Amino acid sequence: MWVIVHTCVGLAIASLVQRPFWQVALLVIASHVLLDLLPHWDYTQTRHALRWGWLDFLAALATLTVLLLAGYPWSVVLMGPISGAPDFDVLFYVVNDGRGRKWFPSHWDGFPHGHCGKGPGIALQMAIVAVSLTVVVVAH
Ligand SMILES: [Zn+2]
Repeated sequence: MWVIVHTCVGLAIASLVQRPFWQVALLVIASHVLLDLLPHWDYTQTRHALRWGWLDFLAALATLTVLLLAGYPWSVVLMGPISGAPDFDVLFYVVNDGRGRKWFPSHWDGFPHGHCGKGPGIALQMAIVAVSLTVVVVAH
């Protein structure tokens, strides 16, 4: 699933859960695994994977920047990148032309990674982003 989706879900979880930082961090990393199970469309198998990846990364960075400028606490904002961080191994894999090994369990070949067509896959991810950002705004 896209980094922006993981980022926004991490932000939403951090906005809702009032627990110590490390416990919230574990929750958002667990959410990464669960989100990767959902049927979605990944750009990593496309010809323009790096271009999509940059857009994805910049969207996540812009979201985090807006929240910081709006005064959201660091304890919430940091959960965005923590939630998306496991996708760095997908980035390294794509940059290395599909050579090497992915370390995060939901990226392993044997993991039941969710897939679907481009239209529904993008729509689902945008819906998750919209719901997550609504939670972030309403919770603060
Ligand atoms: Zn992932």
